[in-house]
Amino acid sequence: MRRIDILALSAFLLMVSAESLSAEQSFDGQRALQNIAAQLAYGPREPTNINAKQNTLRYIQQTLETHSDQVTSQTFEAHGLKGTNVWASFVNRKTKGNVGRIMLGAHWDTRPRSDQEKMRIKQKIPTPGANDGASGVAVLLELARIFAINPPPVTVDLVFFDLEDMGNINNLPFSIGSREFISRNPFYRPGAGVILDMVCDKNLSIPKELYSKTQAAQLLNRIWEIAEAQNSTVFKDKDGTYIQDDHIPFLEAGIPVVDLIHYPFPSYWHTSEDTFDKCSSQSLQQVGNVISSLVYGVP
Ligand SMILES: [Zn+2]
Repeated sequence: MRRIDILALSAFLLMVSAESLSAEQSFDGQRALQNIAAQLAYGPREPTNINAKQNTLRYIQQTLETHSDQVTSQTFEAHGLKGTNVWASFVNRKTKGNVGRIMLGAHWDTRPRSDQEKMRIKQKIPTPGANDGASGVAVLLELARIFAINPPPVTVDLVFFDLEDMGNINNLPFSIGSREFISRNPFYRPGAGVILDMVCDKNLSIPKELYSKTQAAQLLNRIWEIAEAQNSTVFKDKDGTYIQDDHIPFLEAGIPVVDLIHYPFPSYWHTSEDTFDKCSSQSLQQVGNVISSLVYGVP
């Protein structure tokens, strides 16, 4: 990490000061679970399913617009595909520029194939993406609700990336939308960031993803400290593996971004079984509590 990034991250960690939250101001795992159901009702959010993508995009945009007056949608074309990233900001005027600013991100697209299915015929159908897609978005939308009620002590950006999950299909890479976001917003370089991916499973297990551990160690340690203080059972005090996800383009740009992702991947990962019944409001609650504390500076 460059010196300037370390300074920006330290400023963020210092600026969040202890505050206590009332019940309606707190993250609600049940509401997050409902946000998953809402996305699944539109169908798989993959490139050929144009209606599902339009409806889901509108759902994300409209939900954000009720909570934030700064919502931008950025469409792009890359690798012959059209995509849209959505970006909502909760601005704290004490935050100067990028210093002390935090990005929370998730991918809203889903994988167009169930390529981990054993039966060939099932491999061609798109995955429903309850966990892999909808869960991270669901947590961010619930966070948007509480950020509107109780403005965070630092500027927070919620970013919804398109086209994360095309990796290894027709030789496409992972994280197309996140890479576009970094290259199209050269002046946006927040001091810290967190990616949420596959965070709803009933037996959720989030170990320390290794790119995050090696390239965003200070932020990762802070997250695990909070998780430990909250007696969280989903954050595991052990190493995961190196995972290609939406944090990689940020790390390459020198921004410390931690990837919170279920590992080892659940048995239904990239199959037709990635459905609503796999998700738990309690797992979403634990993740939401840790991220809220990171942003608000409690405990
Ligand atoms: Zn995936």
